[in-house]
Amino acid sequence: MRLTIIGCGDAFGTGGRLQTSFHVKAEASTFLIDCGASTLIGLKRLGLAPNDFDTVFVTHLHGDHFGGLPWLLIDAQYASKRTRPLVVTGPKGIESRFVAAAEALYPNSTKTSRSFELSFIEYEERRPLDVRGVTVTPFEVHHPSDAPPYALRFEVDGKALAFTGDTGWVEAICDAAQGTDLLISESFQYDVVLDLHLDFKTIDANYERLGTKRVLLTHMGETMLCRSGEVDASRYLVAHDGMTLDL
Ligand SMILES: [Zn+2]
Ligand SMILES: [Zn+2]
Repeated sequence: MRLTIIGCGDAFGTGGRLQTSFHVKAEASTFLIDCGASTLIGLKRLGLAPNDFDTVFVTHLHGDHFGGLPWLLIDAQYASKRTRPLVVTGPKGIESRFVAAAEALYPNSTKTSRSFELSFIEYEERRPLDVRGVTVTPFEVHHPSDAPPYALRFEVDGKALAFTGDTGWVEAICDAAQGTDLLISESFQYDVVLDLHLDFKTIDANYERLGTKRVLLTHMGETMLCRSGEVDASRYLVAHDGMTLDL
């Protein structure tokens, strides 16, 4: 499967990077992991068709992770003319948060009739969910966003991939990452330990316990981005917008 980084920035536009969104093209299905506000721009910049994916798997309900859904909706309706059904998975309350965001930005956009089916599925803690050939398992982490935040583990085409979402350090990260081919880890800080976000030094101190083959660092703030050249390249890859990885 091919992973393409549409956006690997933080919420503050650090380094001019787009907000979080990853595109995965597997044999079973094509899907997005998170959909930050700039996702539609990123997809089109990379020549990835907004009609090609089946599912958007959302980690948590912050704008830089789900705020791009209203633009996907209006693009699907008026520009890309989507007919393929779209499934959005996320924490409890995802549908009402999406409707509130979309109605604030484009009034009546959720009420007009559509040429495609849009459905929402809510996560249950650590209960694997099968969506079009992709198995996703949510692991609750720590990152208050008025709904439970999750790290997500994906199994598809015989490979395993995990993403921490945004979170302070919790043991659930090790559970989600165990045995994966790749862990995408947020690394907002370099060495400042926060309750709500990870820092590189904490990730590195726990590296052996993650049980993954490789770690891809993303969601980097200013200090982390400045020091990203210092990480051990045998352990870590540093994300940039447009990067692709074949797993
Ligand atoms: Zn967040
Ligand atoms: Zn974020």
